Amino acid sequence: SKAEIGLIGLGTMGAALALNIAEHGFDIAVWNRTASVTQGFHASAGELAARITPTETLEALVEAIAQPRAIILMVPAGAAVDEQIAALRPLLGPDDLIIDAGNANFHDTNRRTRDATGPFLGIGVSGGEEGARHGPAIMGGGKRADWDRVAPILTAISAKHDGEPCANWMGEEGAGHFVKAVHNGIEYADMQMIAEIYGILRDGMGYTPDRVADVFARWNDGPLQSYLVEISGKVAAAVDKKTGKPLLEVIVDAAGQKGTGRWTAIEAQHLAAPIPCIEAAVVARNLSSRRDARAEGERLFGAGPVPMGDAVPSEAALESALICGKILCYAQGFEMIAAASEQFGWSLDLPTIARTWRAGCIIRSAMLDDMATALAEASSRNLMFADFFTRKIQDSHADLRQVVCAGAAHGIALPALGAGLSYFDAMRTARGTADMIQGQRDYFGLHGFERFDGRKDQHGPWAG
Ligand code: NDP
Repeated sequence: SKAEIGLIGLGTMGAALALNIAEHGFDIAVWNRTASVTQGFHASAGELAARITPTETLEALVEAIAQPRAIILMVPAGAAVDEQIAALRPLLGPDDLIIDAGNANFHDTNRRTRDATGPFLGIGVSGGEEGARHGPAIMGGGKRADWDRVAPILTAISAKHDGEPCANWMGEEGAGHFVKAVHNGIEYADMQMIAEIYGILRDGMGYTPDRVADVFARWNDGPLQSYLVEISGKVAAAVDKKTGKPLLEVIVDAAGQKGTGRWTAIEAQHLAAPIPCIEAAVVARNLSSRRDARAEGERLFGAGPVPMGDAVPSEAALESALICGKILCYAQGFEMIAAASEQFGWSLDLPTIARTWRAGCIIRSAMLDDMATALAEASSRNLMFADFFTRKIQDSHADLRQVVCAGAAHGIALPALGAGLSYFDAMRTARGTADMIQGQRDYFGLHGFERFDGRKDQHGPWAG
C-alpha cells in the first residue's frame, strides 16, 4: 500500500519528524538529496522502518505516496525550498500538497503561496530536534482546507497540553511562519529577562551559581513555571567536566543568534508595533558580542555592577518583577501579531496562538494557559487590559520598578526589564509628551498638528 505522506530532507529536523510520523502509525515515504543519508536513516529506524519507504529519486518518492499527495519539505530556508518546489511540482497532480515546514521568512511564504501552481502550506515547527521527534508545536499557514487535509497527521504528532494538540491553523499565506517568528522574538526577550535577574543575583547580591540554581528551581514551582526558567536553573547548577567549576564560569558572555529575533524586531518596525522588550533583547545580544569594547569601557569608567549592599531586593520582589516583565513582553508580542493580522487581513486568533504555545515549544509555560483564557475573554488585544493580567500587573509593577531602580543605582544593565517598565509607564500616561514632538515637527517642517479642540492641520505662530 502507498504512504499517507511524504517527506523531503532527512537532516536533524526532517529525520526526527519522519520518525515521529511513523511512530504515530502513519506510513511515510522519504527522500533526501544525498541518497546515503536516506539509507542510513532507514537502517537505523528500528521497528519504525516498517512504516517508512526510503526512495532514491523524486519520481520514486511521488510514486510511493497515495493520492492526493501531501509532501513535507524540511530543508534549509531560502533557495533550497524554491529549488525543491521547482523540482517537485512538475511531478505532482493538481491536488497534491507541498508543505514547507522549515523556518521560512513569512514574506517568502506569502510569495510562494501566490506563485504556487498547486496547494501549498507554510508551517512553523517549534521545539528543536527533541520537539520534532516527540511532539513539536505546529503553527500552520495557508488555505484552511489544505490544512484540514493534513491536520489528522500534524495534530497526532504534535505536543499535547492536557490532551489538546498544540498544532493549529493560524491563518492564510505566511501566517504560520509569521507566528513562529514572533514566538522566537518572545523567546529572546524571555531569555534576556531571566539573564538580567541572574545578573542581579550574581553581581548585585553575590549569589554563587548554586544559589542562583536554587532560586530558579523554586520559581519553576510557582507562577513562573516554564521551560526557560527550568533550564536556566539547570544551566546554573551544571558543573564543567574539564575544570570542575560551575559551568557559568567557563561560558563566554557573548550570545549567538540565528537572526529570528532581529527579524521580528525589523518586522515590528514595518508594522509600527511597539515591542521594546524584544528589541532590547536583540540589542543585548548584539552588545554582548562586543567583548573588547566592554572591557575597554570597564577600564575607562570602572566596572558597571557594584554590590547592592542593603539595597538588595528580596527574592520575592525579583520573582514578581520577572512576572511583570514577562507579562509586558508577551503583551507586546501578541499585540504585534494583532497588528500583522490587521495589516495582512489574516484574522489571526490570539487565544488559539497562546494555546498552541502551551506545549512543545521553547516558550511553553504555565502562564500561557492563563493568557489563552484571558485573551479569549478580553475585549482588548493587549494583554495588559485583560482582567486577569491587569490584576497581575497591578500586583507586580511596583516590584518591577524597585528592581529596575536598584539595577540602575548599582550599575547593572537591565535592558529588557527596563524596556518593560518604560512601556508600562508610557501605556498608562494618558497625556504624553508628543505634543512637543509635534511642535518641533511643525517648527522645522510645517508638518502641522492636531489641536485638542479637534481642528487638524494647524500650525504654530512661526508659520507665515
Ligand atoms: P539540517 O542541516 O540538519 O538538514 C538539512 C536537510 O536539507 C538535509 O537533509 C539536506 O540534505 C537537505 N538540503 C540542504 N540543502 C538542500 C538543497 N539545496 N536541496 C535539497 N535538499 C537540501 O537542517 P535542520 O534539519 O536543522 O533544519 C531544516 C529546517 O528546519 C530549516 O529551515 C531550519 O531553520 C528549520 N528548523 C530547525 C530547527 C532546529 O532546531 N534544527 C528548529 C525548527 C526549525 P543533504 O543530506 O543532501 O545535505
